[in-house]
Amino acid sequence: LTEACLDAVEAAEALNAVVHKTPEIARAQAKAADERLKGSDEAPALCGIPLGIKDLFCTKGVPSQAASAILDGFRPEYESTVTRQLFEAGAVMLGKLNMDEFAMGSSNETSTYGDVVNPWRAGNSEAALTPGGSSGGSAAAVAARLCLGATGTDTGGSIRQPAAFVGITGLKPTYGRCSRWGIVAFASSLDQAGPMAKDVRDCAILLGAMAGHDPMDSTSADLPVPDFEAALTGDIRGKVIGIPKEYRMDGMPGEIEDLWTKGREMLADAGAELRDISLPHTKYALPAYYVIAPAEASSNLARYDGVRFGHRAKLSQGDGITEMYEKTRAEGFGAEVKRRVMVGTYVLSAGFYDAYYNRARKVRALIKRDFEKVFAEGVDAILTPATPSAAFELGSASDDPVQMYLNDVFTVTVNLAGLPGIAVPVGLDRQGLPLGLQLIGRPWEEGDLLNTAYCLE
Ligand code: GLN
Repeated sequence: LTEACLDAVEAAEALNAVVHKTPEIARAQAKAADERLKGSDEAPALCGIPLGIKDLFCTKGVPSQAASAILDGFRPEYESTVTRQLFEAGAVMLGKLNMDEFAMGSSNETSTYGDVVNPWRAGNSEAALTPGGSSGGSAAAVAARLCLGATGTDTGGSIRQPAAFVGITGLKPTYGRCSRWGIVAFASSLDQAGPMAKDVRDCAILLGAMAGHDPMDSTSADLPVPDFEAALTGDIRGKVIGIPKEYRMDGMPGEIEDLWTKGREMLADAGAELRDISLPHTKYALPAYYVIAPAEASSNLARYDGVRFGHRAKLSQGDGITEMYEKTRAEGFGAEVKRRVMVGTYVLSAGFYDAYYNRARKVRALIKRDFEKVFAEGVDAILTPATPSAAFELGSASDDPVQMYLNDVFTVTVNLAGLPGIAVPVGLDRQGLPLGLQLIGRPWEEGDLLNTAYCLE
């Protein structure tokens, strides 16, 4: 299986999904998995399963650059908790996967390694499509069957939007479910790792290995990890599914409307009760997110100073430490990362802190309360579209940041509220491109959420 995946990776060079291949590691892990499987019939389901790892995860001794030039040459001396747990369960690492630089983007066009191509329209004469972002390499690699699953991270939709754009399943767990230790930080109060795979069952298996308490991350929850796969009974009779009216956006394509209707029908057929609900602060989520995420990013990215990690600029005679910082950061960061650092520094500055950052935090609390209210009223899960459109053409939005940010309109609320959310492929648009729906669940009830998503397959 590992050899077949390594061959598939070689044959799919044009997708630019894998940025650093690790065949020696893969073969050694596969060999160890074979031994383990011989020795017992109790080996974990993941034993010997080839995965791709998003470049945001630190993998010991293996380049881990968050797709940024500023981390050129950085090889961590430690392993992220999530990848360590996956490898302990017997998973095999094929390589590191492309992504937007520092996970900032929705199209995988901000990577220092270049764009990733969506395998749904690769290699023919039409314009190439984005696989979404920031976990675009993970999405493309799973969709093209280069690997059986991949790790992703989701700060504002980066697992769910790319999953929807390539027709796979992606789960953003409850904030605190998976340890953030060893994952390059973007916006620490929003970042969460999660699985991307061909279907709900594979996501359930992967999450079981990725999740769990970790004393190395103070926001990691000290809760038992249930058997997520066992939760997939397909029985959702009596569950209440909320349909939020605020997600019916003006100008939403008819195909997305139709997909949403189809999803409602599938869940009703499975015995769920549908209920119209209101999440009144939804319209403030995008602006609040694009204040809070850059604020935290500007602070997290201060550590890239040319001293501790990766790249340092060549200095001229007479340059001091300030010039070293300036030149290193000017050379090492891409345009979108610089924009976020500037926006974030601005909203945190003394004169503007209350007007922007503090205001955004208050809005965040209201958004969280909207969800708490509907859950308290008996709603078990919320069904929405995952994205406002199907995958768009590479280059079509990359010079307009605001248009790019609008992609995240259905996904950022989940991160602001810390909730679990899953994107599931439910249909195709008129051009034959995949479209996904999103289910949002109660905190810590990923098992229930996966089971509801299972009824959309
Ligand atoms: N597209 C969003 C952003 O650019 C979300 C990114 C993410 O979830 N990592 O910030």
